[in-house]
Amino acid sequence: QAKDAGRNQIKFFSAEMNEQVKERTLIEHSLRAAVVRSQFVLHYQPSVCLTSGTVKGVEALVRWNHPELGMVPPARFIPVAEDTGLIVDIGSWVLREACAQGRRWIDSGVGRFSVAVNVSARQFRRPSFAAEVREALRETGLPADLLDLEITESVVMADVQQAVEVMAELKEIGVRMSIDDFGTGYSSLSYLRLFPLDYLKIDQSFIAEMGTPSGDAMVRSIVMLGHSLDFGLIAEGVETAAQRDHLRDLGCDQMQGYLFSRPQPADALEALLAASAGR
Ligand code: C2E
Ligand code: MG
Ligand code: MG
Ligand code: MG
Repeated sequence: QAKDAGRNQIKFFSAEMNEQVKERTLIEHSLRAAVVRSQFVLHYQPSVCLTSGTVKGVEALVRWNHPELGMVPPARFIPVAEDTGLIVDIGSWVLREACAQGRRWIDSGVGRFSVAVNVSARQFRRPSFAAEVREALRETGLPADLLDLEITESVVMADVQQAVEVMAELKEIGVRMSIDDFGTGYSSLSYLRLFPLDYLKIDQSFIAEMGTPSGDAMVRSIVMLGHSLDFGLIAEGVETAAQRDHLRDLGCDQMQGYLFSRPQPADALEALLAASAGR
């Protein structure tokens, strides 16, 4: 009987794996076409100041508007895009489009908001990356200090010397830089201070654990660490008023999360942004 159960389990797993392989193959094939057909859209999620409640900026989050699958979330295609190298083209498009949107909000009188863009490992390692950033700013006319590049810990820690060099170039251009998902990688504290960072974004897993003694201790430690290095702190994935209030008490600077707003298309956010700019 145990043997039967084992066999069933193997069958079950292989059926599931088969589905995963199928989906991956489907995604890989149509991702290439999606780049050519520009089937990507950006949604934007505001980041708000925890003391004033005003919107400081937005983060651009890519979605794939697939003709049959509908809106595909990044978790389902970014890993494939990374593996195939397609992330370079997708990332270039995201960078340019996000900068263009930031500029449109200025020109249409909505307001000046910083726009954060997620940068993948492959993009960050390209020797031409800083030049590409400079070009996107020049073409769109977005002021450099309104662009915020989000890089994960693992990417900067994998090759610290390269990261320091690229970040120095980016700093010279005048853009802002943040570490995304902070706390989930393996940051060496002695290296962290070598980077000219503006923000640490506290990973949402820590925010979800707030309210427990160890969860609170983690968030408190990250806030203290960031501030001692002169970085601003942004909490990700804030869903409850209790989390917001607690983060404010801990001295965290900004928050992002469903409590304030889900990521939305640019036009859907306009009223909210304009209201904040007027304050
Ligand atoms: P991320 O950069 O850490 O973005 C935050 C993710 O948390 C977003 O998921 C956002 O929708 C979600 N989120 C925001 N507030 C809440 C909340 O209150 N609760 C919960 N449960 N989730 C919340 P999304 O849009 O699915 O993006 C997932 C990840 O995909 C991003 O994580 C980022 O690593 C990657 N990604 C998104 N857009 C791009 C892009 O243009 N380029 C690259 N390279 N990666 C991207
Ligand atoms: Mg991010
Ligand atoms: Mg994050
Ligand atoms: Mg992430």
